[in-house]
Amino acid sequence: MRIGIMGAGAAGLSAAWFLRDSGHDVHVLEAGDEVGGLARSFDWHGFRCDIAPHRLYTNDERVLRELTSLVPMNRMRRNSRIFIQGKWVADPVNAAEIMLKFLPFKSLAIGWHYLFRKRVPEDQEDSFEAMVLSRFGRGLNEFFFKPYSEKLFGIPGDQISPEWGRRKLRVSGFKDMIRRNTKLYFRSFHYPKEGGYGSICDALYAHVGESVHLQTRLEGLTERESGGYTARLRHDGQAYDEDFDVVISTLPISNVASLLGETIGLRFRAADIYYLLVNQRQVSPNHWVYFADGDYCLNRVSEFRNFQGAQPDEDRTVLCCEVTATERASLEKVVAELHAAGMVNPEDVLDSMIIPIARAYPIYDRASDQELALAAAFFGRHPRLHLLGRNAQFAHRDVDEIFDEARYVVERVLEGIAADNLGGASPGRRIVQLGEADAEHVLEALAERDTDGRLAASAE
Ligand SMILES: Cc1cc2nc3c(=O)[nH]c(=O)nc-3n(C[C@H](O)[C@H](O)[C@H](O)COP(=O)(O)OP(=O)(O)OC[C@H]3O[C@@H](n4cnc5c(N)ncnc54)[C@H](O)[C@@H]3O)c2cc1C
Repeated sequence: MRIGIMGAGAAGLSAAWFLRDSGHDVHVLEAGDEVGGLARSFDWHGFRCDIAPHRLYTNDERVLRELTSLVPMNRMRRNSRIFIQGKWVADPVNAAEIMLKFLPFKSLAIGWHYLFRKRVPEDQEDSFEAMVLSRFGRGLNEFFFKPYSEKLFGIPGDQISPEWGRRKLRVSGFKDMIRRNTKLYFRSFHYPKEGGYGSICDALYAHVGESVHLQTRLEGLTERESGGYTARLRHDGQAYDEDFDVVISTLPISNVASLLGETIGLRFRAADIYYLLVNQRQVSPNHWVYFADGDYCLNRVSEFRNFQGAQPDEDRTVLCCEVTATERASLEKVVAELHAAGMVNPEDVLDSMIIPIARAYPIYDRASDQELALAAAFFGRHPRLHLLGRNAQFAHRDVDEIFDEARYVVERVLEGIAADNLGGASPGRRIVQLGEADAEHVLEALAERDTDGRLAASAE
């Protein structure tokens, strides 16, 4: 069988890795001139840098074992802080510390709102904000959760899906917050000993490189009557077609839908990553710090020197500042915010550059649940097309989760081929689950959208 994998980021390379001994004819097609996508590393002023702060944190022993045998990694004790309303506090948020540091007015307000909050059953938490208000009360919502999440997604808290809360609010309420901190959760992570986070993708590439075709962009996808797809590709300015029996796409879900003539209204939040060369040996001992306030454009700042030993032995360091903003913030604003937090003096910034990420975060707005259900119905009609990866599956997935998902998708592909029944394949777990759970919802939405008959067919 000829299997085409679109994109050579963590998802495409992981899929190729799991297919490496399958005996099938695997082709990974990558538009760029290097592999790794969002999880690649590069050198700048002699420092090994990642695209935004990256670390490996997983509870899955098997994934950890597999990834650490691919790439030697250090287990590191996590150092992280949060800058909020002019003060530094622990990360993860420690409710007791917040109460003490923000005495008397904010603490009283947080405590008061917590005690007299209106609790709603879990199934009525219909937005991220509703979830936080029910579990923590208005005080903590306005102090921390609302400004941070609104800055991340660029939409009001009551428009953010509760799905975001389920993924990111790892605690169920105040008491859990205090208890978990005393148990010292999230204390360590893994990071490659050398080569930056990108060395994970580099190691996968070293095993599957023969299947990877760089500078080869997917521009069109057509279903073949005999099954499978014809991919319209472009390499070196030349367009040409190639046939595949099965396609694994790691491209954003809305892009691949549009190649197939469908519109899926899922949105992504852009981020700008500012790299600053600073005339200081070390700005802080933290791996990353968060800026929680809504009037700060900074979201997260990390310092590569703190991740791996093999960085230049110089009295300079590189900061990586993640800014999720609707409009690009000026460098002056970024530096002024670092200065206000006591991290950097403007005159110490020796050089800077920006890497824009067009699709950094799938936006979990409330409409996205419905759009995903629609996507499930649409892609359910494409059993030979599998979606895999962060933007392909519209989930805030990290590399470890993508690696595990690649194993799952490849198993489905191989099962389908073995049974000579490619109809058994699926477009990915998250999408399928939502689709199944919301079956009625999907049918209603399909009926509303039934303007040209395309989606109506999939409801049958
Ligand atoms: C700000 C931020 C912080 C993160 N932090 C962490 C972290 O701490 N730990 C962690 O493990 N993960 C982290 N992640 C997530 C991690 O970066 C992603 O999950 C992972 O890199 C996604 O891999 P992917 O292959 O799904 O997508 P991508 O990396 O986007 O790869 C897609 C590939 O497809 C290629 N492509 C696009 N269009 C075409 C086309 N038409 N034809 C051919 N090729 C095409 C692209 O060039 C790219 O190489 C973070 C992500 C972000 C944005």
